[in-house]
Amino acid sequence: MTRLYHDAMYDPARPLDSYWEASAGEPVADCDPVEGDIDCDVAVVGGGFTGLSAALHLARDEQIGVRVIEAVAPGWGASGRNGGHCCFGGAGLDPTEIEDRFGEETARWNIAVQREAIDLVHDLATANELDIDMQGRGELCVAHNAKALAELREETAMWKRLGGFDCEMLSEGAMRERMFDAPNISGGMLFPFGFGLHPLKYARGLARIAQRQGVRIHGNSPVLGWRRENGLHRLETLRGSVVARKVLIATNGFTRDGLHRAVDGCLLPAISEIVATRPLTDAELARHRFQASVPLYDKRPLFAYFRVLPDRRIHMGGAGGTTGSPASKKRWRSFLTRRIAEVWPEWRDVEVECCWRGFVCLSRDRLTHVGAVPDDPGVFYSLAYHGNGVAMATWSGRAVAGLISGRPNRALPATMTQPLKPFPFPAFRKLALYRRYGGGMLRSMLARG
Ligand SMILES: Cc1cc2nc3c(=O)[nH]c(=O)nc-3n(C[C@H](O)[C@H](O)[C@H](O)COP(=O)(O)OP(=O)(O)OC[C@H]3O[C@@H](n4cnc5c(N)ncnc54)[C@H](O)[C@@H]3O)c2cc1C
Repeated sequence: MTRLYHDAMYDPARPLDSYWEASAGEPVADCDPVEGDIDCDVAVVGGGFTGLSAALHLARDEQIGVRVIEAVAPGWGASGRNGGHCCFGGAGLDPTEIEDRFGEETARWNIAVQREAIDLVHDLATANELDIDMQGRGELCVAHNAKALAELREETAMWKRLGGFDCEMLSEGAMRERMFDAPNISGGMLFPFGFGLHPLKYARGLARIAQRQGVRIHGNSPVLGWRRENGLHRLETLRGSVVARKVLIATNGFTRDGLHRAVDGCLLPAISEIVATRPLTDAELARHRFQASVPLYDKRPLFAYFRVLPDRRIHMGGAGGTTGSPASKKRWRSFLTRRIAEVWPEWRDVEVECCWRGFVCLSRDRLTHVGAVPDDPGVFYSLAYHGNGVAMATWSGRAVAGLISGRPNRALPATMTQPLKPFPFPAFRKLALYRRYGGGMLRSMLARG
């Protein structure tokens, strides 16, 4: 199978150095690898939010026999490594671009889906008493200059028009008073939906609820071959095969070309990097008057998101390298460490303890894709959340479970049902990232100046 990045990105033996791993507690029990020949109604390839949510909803709501076939362990992919911002997002287009392309009704629908997705995560966690360190209510976008603040005002009007809700605009003074005090803040926009969570605890929690509903999860079982046999699907793993009536592809950014022709060349994984520092003391927090409990993001290009975690570590992440080599990881660790010092000069000496990375997943048309493969009956997919899949992958997993069972529980907006198309020159699709990051770096330097 083709790999777009350095082998280190796919190597389960390589330590992730993730703060979530260090703090998530016990891995999920009873995840034995596939051994010998086994069968099931539905095989879900990939044990992240998409696959686990789909499996849970198939088993719980439809009493369908499901096996999750995961290359490493539940939550090993992006689901256990992300920033934990359970917030809006999914498509790589903003609502006005969606409106231009699909019309106002679809743009409104798409927003409604994003609200529902956040509620779904919240409801799953509370109904099942998952201990996932939920934090804050809302999401704060920080403007670093007057232009960014003016853009946020326009955005607020757009959310009112298309979403029907109010975002609170915060002046520079209100930001310093209520959120945090740092150089280069011009104001902010407090978005009313979203919260922070511990992503690996959430992924493992989903896995455990699914198991309680009868889902079998197989870890250390990468699907290496796939063929049709007597109208069924045979998935070959290291030490055995799974024969299934239906298969869901839920491998997102970790999908490798060669898994199934329906997704070959259609996905562009992009690296996102994160750091977490040691816990801050009261005195250190006070130096920037830090009080924000909500997840934050910043209008500066390539400087995506941050928060102070419940145990007071600074957690910051953004776009990442384009090779995935271990050497590039060191460079990104230094880059993000410098970024912390730039944004919060009083915290410049706070040591970074963990730095990790993973794949977000982009599609050619910058939309999330949920559907059935037209010319291979029984094969489904749910993919491409453009770096915002905590809520949306959970929602899409439930939606695709409806398609698989033949009893759709939710109608899908047109943004999600477009045909999945390959990139024009799949072998060169990473060029799109170089362009994007090159421009982002330049804009970021200008924005700092
Ligand atoms: C660093 C980082 C930060 C992010 N921050 C945020 C955030 O703050 N908020 C947000 O909403 N989103 C965020 N995201 C995006 C979010 O994590 C993803 O959109 C989401 O986790 C996707 O879930 P998934 O289940 O579709 O894919 P994944 O969680 O990536 O799961 C795919 C799984 O498939 C498995 N797999 C792959 N190939 C095979 C195979 N052949 N056989 C068997 N198994 C296979 C992999 O091992 C993996 O476990 C971030 C992502 C990254 C990487």
